[in-house]
Amino acid sequence: MNKEGCLFCRIIRGDVPATRVHEDEQVLAIRDINPQAPVHVLVIPKDHVATIGDSLETVNAPNRLFALFHAAGKLAVELGIQRSGYRVVVNSGAEGGQTVDHLHLHLLGGRQMVWPPG
Ligand code: AMP
Ligand code: ZN
Repeated sequence: MNKEGCLFCRIIRGDVPATRVHEDEQVLAIRDINPQAPVHVLVIPKDHVATIGDSLETVNAPNRLFALFHAAGKLAVELGIQRSGYRVVVNSGAEGGQTVDHLHLHLLGGRQMVWPPG
């Protein structure tokens, strides 16, 4: 999927509505439309890279990955799941279960997580 047709790029541009919970220069965080936990937020880099591997091929990789984890950690505090605990997930590629080919972290919390994941 190219940038123009990418769902998350369209959300970042404001062409598709989403519930925004955080935005800064590098990152947008939105509520997942199909939440898998009481708190389910997607933390998305504003520049289009499909996967962790694609991100690593860019000069901005360290900044981008730091910005994603930094935002996820701050949001965990703001959304009240820092103390109880939470999970951060990146699905990557077909067997990883990735359905939107724009890198994103899932921040999940508000219920007991189980291991191993499905
Ligand atoms: P993944 O399967 O890891 O690629 O995650 C994609 C996530 O995007 C899924 O959890 C979907 O529920 C979520 N999603 C799909 N469309 C939207 C949308 N329009 N707004 C918010 N979240 C979405
Ligand atoms: Zn994109």
